[in-house]
Order: sequence, then C-alpha cells, then structure tokens
Amino acid sequence: MKRFFAALAVMLPLVTPAAAQQDKVLNLYSARHYDTDEALYANFTKATGIRVNRIEAGDEALLERLRNEGANSPADVLLIVDASRLHAADLAGLFAPVKSALLDARIPAALRSPGGTWFAFSSRARILVADPAVPVADIQDYLDLADGKNRGRVCTRPGSHPYMLSLIASVIAHHGEARAEAWARATVANMARPPRGGDTDQIRAVAAGECAVALTNSYYLVRLMRSRKPEDRAVAEKVRVIWPDQAGHGTHMNVSGGGVLRNAPNREAAVRFLEYLAGDEAQAYFANGNNEWPVVRTAIAKNPELESLGRFKSDTLSIQEIAVRTPAAQRIADRAGWR
Ligand code: FE
Repeated sequence: MKRFFAALAVMLPLVTPAAAQQDKVLNLYSARHYDTDEALYANFTKATGIRVNRIEAGDEALLERLRNEGANSPADVLLIVDASRLHAADLAGLFAPVKSALLDARIPAALRSPGGTWFAFSSRARILVADPAVPVADIQDYLDLADGKNRGRVCTRPGSHPYMLSLIASVIAHHGEARAEAWARATVANMARPPRGGDTDQIRAVAAGECAVALTNSYYLVRLMRSRKPEDRAVAEKVRVIWPDQAGHGTHMNVSGGGVLRNAPNREAAVRFLEYLAGDEAQAYFANGNNEWPVVRTAIAKNPELESLGRFKSDTLSIQEIAVRTPAAQRIADRAGWR
C-alpha cells in the first residue's frame, strides 16, 4: 500500500472532466509501460486530435484506484492484463458496454466479453520451459506437471497469481473441477521448491538447475532473448521451449485488454481509442511493446525473436470461459496449498 501511494505521488495530475470536454482529451489508466507505446499514443493524437493523459501503474493498483474514485473517476479507458483481472473489473462494474461494429468485426469473439465490456488487444501463451536434459516425453502438457515422473522438478509462481488462476481455470474448463483440483495438488507435490517470484524467476531457476521444468508467459522468455545483457540471453539459451498440449486442446492463451469505464467523462474519445487500438498499425505496436501477438489477424508484428519460437496450436477456449472460472480456480489453488 505504501508503494502504491508513493507511485501515485510521481504521477502527473489529470485534467478535470470539465476541462477535458473543451480540450479533446482521453484519460487512460494503463498497466502498460513500454517504449513503443509512445508512438502508439502519438499516432492516435495525430489521427484524431485527442490528447492522451496517461496514468500508468500496476494492474492491482489501477483497480484499487478506480474502486476508490468511484463515480468521480476521471478515467475513460482501463488497460490491464489477464482474463482474471478483466473479469474482476467486469464484476466490480467498472466497465460500460461498448457497441462498435468495428471492434466486433476486428476482434475475434473469443477475445472479447459477450457483453462488450472488455476487448483483448494482444495475446500471450502460457508455455513451459525445461532443462534440455528432461526427456521430451516426460513433459508435453500442463497435466504432466502433476505426473510422478516430474517429482521434484517443477517450479511455478504462486498459484493465486492471475496468470496461474487463468491457467487453472482453463484446466477446469477442459477437465472439470475435480480433475483440476487433483492436478493442482499433485503439481504442488512435484515442486522443486515452494512457489515464489515471477515468471522470469522461473525461467532463471530452470537455467540455474534449481528446477527442471517451469511455467512462464511467452513474452518473458522473448524479453530475455531480446535483452541487451548477454547473461539474460544465456539464460534463454539454456532452456527448451515446450508448447503445451499440442496433441490436445492446444496451448493456454491469455490476453491484455481493456474497456471503456462506466464513469468515463470522454466516452466518445474512449470508444475511438479502442477502435484505434484494433487497427493494423496500432496492433503491431501494441503487440510488439511486450513481445506479444496481435489479436487482429491482418496485423503484422515484426518480431524475429518471437517468430523464432515457431508455430503452435493455441487453445481456442474463449477468454470469457476462462475468466468466469477464475474464482473457482482460486478456491482450488487455496485447497491445494499452491501458495
Ligand atoms: Fe506479465
């Protein structure tokens, strides 16, 4: 909490809603903070004359801030990551539904909420990385994390993190709650060490020989591959990439996304901004900023390191189907002691 307020102190003040209407502005609360985003916002302003005021903070801090601001919030658009967080924002009633033929046409139905409250703008895969010495047959699917063959090999971040909750939710969607819970318990029993750290820490732990197999979002690995630091690139080179569940449902996909806020003072500008993000050029910037994939099929993000990971079969489960199961996933993580 202390860190949250310290972060707020360095943020620029937003213009008041009254001034905003005269000025053509958009107040954006964003959990993104990438270099390429500068061009993204500059191009929007160039195309529309709408200035973008940004508040950048962590996902949880932004959700907390919006809850505290309530009806007085100056925010028009919220951009956050992961199905579970989009769902939490949705459940809290933060988003106002958007009806846009353009968004409906460009963003696949599986990547937006049925009610038009949120839309995905980039996608990421939850992949496995392994010590190359681990036999390929031992680990091909998320379910294999629970297999006795992998005892003492597994590293993950804490199970209650949104990325884990979404993965557990996808296991629930495909296999039911009982099997998901048995899987979670057995996976915890296979851990090389208690869950800790973020996804990058799991990749580093595999490279360091602390664990033999770990879960990570795809962009963390690509970030290491593209790092200026040779020691980071060496970490990425030490691990084998596994696209999970290629013989079954396909690799679990998640998204970053956002929506127009219920109390948006500049609603029209907000909808235009979301529509702009769905354009081919914006999609490329948006995806590349975090080494992700565009959600719009015609958009081309040139990212050789990301492309070097190769093609894979992705799970077609809708993000909403994952999102609605994240509360059940949390209960399973708790019961399994996946802390
Ligand atoms: Fe992340």
